[in-house]
Amino acid sequence: MLKKAKAGHYAVGQFNINNLEWTKAILQTAQDLNSPVILGVSEGAGKYMTGYKTVVGMVNGMLEEMNITVPVALHLDHGSYEGCLKCVEAGFSSIMFDGSHYPIDENVEKTKELVKIAHDNNMSIEAEVGSIGGEEDGVIGKGECADPEECKMVADLGIDFLAAGIGNIHGKYPDNWEGLSFETLDSIQQKTGDMPLVLHGGTGIPEDMIKKAIDLGVAKINVNTECQLSFAAATREYIEAGKDQEGKGFDPRKLLKPGTEAIMATVKEKMELFGSVGKA
Ligand SMILES: [Zn+2]
Repeated sequence: MLKKAKAGHYAVGQFNINNLEWTKAILQTAQDLNSPVILGVSEGAGKYMTGYKTVVGMVNGMLEEMNITVPVALHLDHGSYEGCLKCVEAGFSSIMFDGSHYPIDENVEKTKELVKIAHDNNMSIEAEVGSIGGEEDGVIGKGECADPEECKMVADLGIDFLAAGIGNIHGKYPDNWEGLSFETLDSIQQKTGDMPLVLHGGTGIPEDMIKKAIDLGVAKINVNTECQLSFAAATREYIEAGKDQEGKGFDPRKLLKPGTEAIMATVKEKMELFGSVGKA
């Protein structure tokens, strides 16, 4: 999926899921736009949904019942070593091992073991070099730039795609953010050849920077916070308009509808920006 994206100069969006509404909204949008899609699950979200087996059951059920025919990957986002093993067992199609907080030798060692396990199970695996700033499930990074030599070392372990810090951070970007380091991205891409690169923290990166990053070899872009913000805003609007108190407006299927539609709009906007529409 991502090799094709890199060769075609577009990126596939990874949209993190939290529950049924999120999953349904993202899958439906991908199908409507004929776009490949990656469903991301953080360890925290996995726990929230009662465990990885529930997630696999829900996603596989929806693929069938919603007649989803576009390529869909179910991917563990920022997994620990143990979390990766659990997702292999539960039936995910892809995992990310985030060993960026380990010294590089230990990151390499653990990534190597997980590459073998993932490939033995026909799964793809993403690794991370240079921690990505902001906070993701309690993991706090500063937004440093990865060392291109270390990227090459990890890329050569047989991983399928590589997340490298290039000044990007998770969550909302601060006003004094210095922007993406295209110089770093360019040298990583030159050292890692046709390895698809991953851009985390897609919320709030200006569109021209996203496009330039895709030109320089980014084939997967992670979006999480932006769907949360649009869901929250639409739900707030519904409640503030008093619609939950009109008729059966309190019915969760009605109450959660504006938020679900807002996620669909955000996903559509991102797929158009990333160029993945019609690429299924
Ligand atoms: Zn991330």
